[in-house]
Amino acid sequence: MGTRGEIYVRNSSSVIELWRHYDTYANFMVPYFKVFAKYAAWCAGSQRHWLTYPEDVAAMLIAYDYEVVLATRLRFVSKGLLEARPDLKPRGRINDFEKVWILDIPDENQTCDITWKVRGFSFKFQADAEEMREDIRKGKDAMFENYMEKIAEFSVKPLNDEGGGCRLCGYPGPLIIVEDPPVCIYCLLKNLRDDFFKAEIERIVKVAPLITQITR
Ligand SMILES: [Zn+2]
Repeated sequence: MGTRGEIYVRNSSSVIELWRHYDTYANFMVPYFKVFAKYAAWCAGSQRHWLTYPEDVAAMLIAYDYEVVLATRLRFVSKGLLEARPDLKPRGRINDFEKVWILDIPDENQTCDITWKVRGFSFKFQADAEEMREDIRKGKDAMFENYMEKIAEFSVKPLNDEGGGCRLCGYPGPLIIVEDPPVCIYCLLKNLRDDFFKAEIERIVKVAPLITQITR
């Protein structure tokens, strides 16, 4: 059984509704959103305004979620990459959830000092889910206590300037597959034909148990 949840990416002009099957409790989702903020900042690069469009942020969130799934798969060799898909998807007509997460982003085209606000809630099962969704869409936040109990609230700045990402490209997401020094799977694939890089990878493979597992 997963902990299913609805996830809303919202600003004052639009709301994108998503749904996740597994692990939408706070212990998983708080670090998930914090790493996602770095990942999205890295994806956007100098196009900072992308971080203010709910449609773009939702697309990046699904891409990030897929990388979380792939990273888990890569750590368990026997599972492989078959039958892997993002666990986060457009909600559509799915009506099955315990948790609700709202990611409020600034109104469009702001390019500096962007701050996202994240709030997580447990849904009260006797409440009306469709009414709740209407109020979220309309921004009637004062009504939330009728439907939900707050479990987490924090602000996060989508910035990728703290280091710790891939040594070669700065990528800060889940697909760092060599840990010391950190190298992402994209740089690994991109540079496989480079003799110097190949020699470096062979050297790293000898000291990094993670990648040894992957290539075994
Ligand atoms: Zn890289």
